[in-house]
Amino acid sequence: MLHVVTPEQAVETVLREFGGRRTGEEQVTLAAAAGRVLARPVAAAEFVPGFDRSTVDGWAVRAADTFGCSDSLPALLDMAGQVQMGENAAAPLSPGSGVKVPTGGAVPPGADAVVMAEYTEEYGDGTFGVLKPAAPGENLIYRGDDVAPGQEVLPAGRRIGPADIGALAALGAARVWVRRRPVVGILSTGDELVPLRQKPGPGQVRDVNAHMLAAAAAAWGARCLPPVLLPDREEQLEEAVDRLASRCDVVVLSGGSSVGEKDAAARVLNRLGEILFHGIAMKPGKPTLLARVREVPVLGLPGHPVAAFFTAHLLLRPLLAQLTGRRLETIRVTARLSGPVPANHGRAQYAGVFLRREEGELVAVPAHSKSGLITTLAGSDGYLCVPRDCEGFPAGQQVEVTLYSMD
Ligand code: AMP
Ligand code: MG
Repeated sequence: MLHVVTPEQAVETVLREFGGRRTGEEQVTLAAAAGRVLARPVAAAEFVPGFDRSTVDGWAVRAADTFGCSDSLPALLDMAGQVQMGENAAAPLSPGSGVKVPTGGAVPPGADAVVMAEYTEEYGDGTFGVLKPAAPGENLIYRGDDVAPGQEVLPAGRRIGPADIGALAALGAARVWVRRRPVVGILSTGDELVPLRQKPGPGQVRDVNAHMLAAAAAAWGARCLPPVLLPDREEQLEEAVDRLASRCDVVVLSGGSSVGEKDAAARVLNRLGEILFHGIAMKPGKPTLLARVREVPVLGLPGHPVAAFFTAHLLLRPLLAQLTGRRLETIRVTARLSGPVPANHGRAQYAGVFLRREEGELVAVPAHSKSGLITTLAGSDGYLCVPRDCEGFPAGQQVEVTLYSMD
């Protein structure tokens, strides 16, 4: 008997049953931190910038000394020296004078504005003229304008991107605390499956899912053990799932998850642990199951690669995010459907789509895939879902497309 749930209930079950689990914390160098998930918030220990800096090439002045000046009546100031990049602006600025500063250079104490070089003229006698009044604070950033000590810069649960790496470098964070990558064990089962490099004989097909699921899991932040390929042999499957569950944070098997005579996944998982649901009211993807073995979540995905793909996106992605305490952002766009997508009685219908820009409008072209053919999804950008209580989508309808997530 299948214990069938809706796709939403399936996700809820995953999060409820395994929501408390987190991988441990480890420290990595900044060079290894991109793509990892912060285990702790990062706060600044220093002022950034650490000194008042000019944002332009020009003259650091007291703004009040330039009030009322113009092209025809320049403010006349004394040249009180020049600041070099990387050096301190030694002396405080006295009234009636200015110091030449390069972009990013230190502004001397007493100066409260920088006049761009374009609005000045040098007279060659130790003085210069300002042609345009400067407002206080103009063209400079003050010490701590970016961040001050104690200020939180990145929250725990954030997946570190390139801009974050830049901020961490500015703060001098040479090492950061991240969550250990969840370890995923991948297992394909089917008497007909052959490994990638073997030419399939009659009745045989290449193992697609192992590679696809490993790529997905890696994109979603996991470290995958070398995939295991097994025939439909219950004892072998049982031994392999048990071994993987003892070494992994998540086990993903595909194939044999239905209720046929050869479909061993449910029987094996029942013996090894507890099945939490068996069957999701979605198409493709119905014969999907979730079990707990040795406290570890085991996903039993359908063998059809397209079904395995959608169910992995639905369940494996939030599961992996949860393990590192990461908040998921699922990005949806609205697009006009180029052709109809029929509903599927009683089940949520998933369809891959290609997105095109036509005369400024986003158009979703559905991929017509009989659920086994993963090649029909190659090059697609996302998917749409026709809810089960809906008559289907006609051509021209505005639909929500969920973009495949690479993170
Ligand atoms: P199953 O879920 O075992 O009933 O398999 C359903 C369909 O998916 C069958 O046509 C299988 O040959 C195919 N299939 C199962 N596992 C894989 C796999 N790892 N790679 C490619 N096709 C698969
Ligand atoms: Mg099979």
